[in-house]
Amino acid sequence: MEIKGVTHWPFDCSDRLGEIESWFGWTIDGKLLIASALPAWVQAIFWRHTGMKLLLGSGGFRTEQRVTFLVKQMRSFFGDVKRILFVPYALADHDGYVKMLIDRGLHAGYELDGIHNHADPIEAVHHAEAIYVGGGNTFRLVTELHGRDMLGIIRQRVRSDLPYMGVSAGSNVACPTLMTTNDMPIVMPPSFETLGLTTFQINPHYFNGQTHVELADGSFQAHFGETRDDRIREFHEMNDMPVVGLWEGGVLRYENNKWQLKGSAARVFLKGKEPQDMQADSELGELLAS
Ligand code: ASP
Repeated sequence: MEIKGVTHWPFDCSDRLGEIESWFGWTIDGKLLIASALPAWVQAIFWRHTGMKLLLGSGGFRTEQRVTFLVKQMRSFFGDVKRILFVPYALADHDGYVKMLIDRGLHAGYELDGIHNHADPIEAVHHAEAIYVGGGNTFRLVTELHGRDMLGIIRQRVRSDLPYMGVSAGSNVACPTLMTTNDMPIVMPPSFETLGLTTFQINPHYFNGQTHVELADGSFQAHFGETRDDRIREFHEMNDMPVVGLWEGGVLRYENNKWQLKGSAARVFLKGKEPQDMQADSELGELLAS
């Protein structure tokens, strides 16, 4: 039996599959599924030493320089993959989204296969070579994924062998929950649970400091709504998971069991500790494992 994902478990359990299945879950296609009964963040801890590959972007890939950067990241991440299954559910106009990515060169030359064109999206995930979840409204995206019962199959395939790219809302859903999104709850998902591919939360489009609004006469007026750091502090008043505030233009890349920060800085928030600023090209592993 081919078993992917358990060989690097904290203990070698390959000879005890029957027993483990009866505790936790079942096998499909010969791959062990850790029970969906376990919370996503617990599953994420079990699975973090697999051959999983993630490319998680903040967003703001609007300037030529940033587009060039992202395209390079995509080329080296996806390699000789031909078709990428694209998930546009965070926006209302699915065809328009695919077209916009191609027009802006954000497909990096790969063929984008919109999942909305498949009669059976779960089957499409089963057969995908790679998956890319686009940005937009995170609540809408999560509602759509739950509604189509797709979280389990995406999680299973990505933990096994499917390269996963997310941008913005697509990075939010790679985390254990959607709780560190910046979006308005325009629809009600059945739960805040997301894919749990990471053991930490991401706050995309992160920036720090107070916001100032430019007025018609060109002057700036202070804006006293919560800063991002305030919002993340509030998150930690109620929750424990680390949060990575990822500046626009940056990506977090997970390969060979290592987290690399590329293209921008990030601020890492650990509950009860001073936030730590990380520069592009840092490795985030130990910080995030704590
Ligand atoms: N709305 C963002 C996006 O572009 C997500 C976020 O800011 O949380 O997908």
